[in-house]
Amino acid sequence: MATLLEFKNVSKIYKRGKTETTALDNLSLTLKDDESTILTVAGESGSGKTTLAMLLLGFIEPTIGQIYYKGKDISLLSGSERMTFRKEVQAVFQDPFAVFNPFYTVEHLLEVPIKRFKLAKSRTEIRDRMAEALTAVGLQPDEIFGRFPHQLSGGQRQRINIARALVLRPKVLVADEPVSMVDASLRANILETLRTLQRNYGVSIVYITHDLTTAFHIANSIMVLYRGSVMEAGGVEQVIKYPQHPYTQLLVDSIPWPDLSRRWGQTDLEPSEDTVIGKGCKFYSRCPKAMEVCKTKPPLYQLEPYQTASCFLFKEKPQLEAESLSKALPV
Ligand code: SF4
Repeated sequence: MATLLEFKNVSKIYKRGKTETTALDNLSLTLKDDESTILTVAGESGSGKTTLAMLLLGFIEPTIGQIYYKGKDISLLSGSERMTFRKEVQAVFQDPFAVFNPFYTVEHLLEVPIKRFKLAKSRTEIRDRMAEALTAVGLQPDEIFGRFPHQLSGGQRQRINIARALVLRPKVLVADEPVSMVDASLRANILETLRTLQRNYGVSIVYITHDLTTAFHIANSIMVLYRGSVMEAGGVEQVIKYPQHPYTQLLVDSIPWPDLSRRWGQTDLEPSEDTVIGKGCKFYSRCPKAMEVCKTKPPLYQLEPYQTASCFLFKEKPQLEAESLSKALPV
């Protein structure tokens, strides 16, 4: 099966003076060319999820490891290959207001990328392409063309942002907290738009969020990051309904499920004073189940066909090589 995007043992380390911070630690991951999927990358702030987004988009380079697009190291792409990569790997960011210049209409915003990548030969072709993208995100082209940003709601702006990526017919969409600044009433609508893009247009979506509830509703698979390392990964239903890693259990426990027997945010996880960050399990200082062995680094253990966790609580289970993480992620 052809590989579209591949991370091979990727680490990103930031240095400030003598201090080093590992924002992403030895991640291997594959997105396939012929099977689109929605992969959620979840974690709190500082988990490395935004670093991962920047690496996926080619905005920053790994400190260790390689990132391949269609089999080629993205740091070695030729000019035309880089243009293809830029066109086919698109982003939708958190702030639906950031890309709008108040003096330009929606039409202008959408036609800029089409012209930049020379994707249409005539005015009619440009307009058709824009109309197709707007329709795909659930907007009426005739109502939207000619409007200025202040005439649009936050939800409409975010859908236009998605349409702006879609005019390029991308293969991968990196959606970094795309609904966190949108009214709660419009979130489901935008998430459904993303799901439609994956199903109908074959776009793989890397959905980056701290919100497991939205992840549960749209993703096929999930990867939970903590301080740059994968804590647990697998099918979204398996991981969220039956979390096994103490950190995922903490995250899931903070979801306000409609269950009267459960107190919101109820958790018995308390931070401990000891910390072995960098040497052992990164969750050690917060983990109530920490053991002596946790002062060494836990490998990934395969718990179910589509569930793996980096935790010594499962040391009786077979190990999964870090390079094989994608085998635990259903599409
Ligand atoms: Fe807790 Fe140890 Fe598992 Fe880390 S490896 S999550 S410290 S039990």
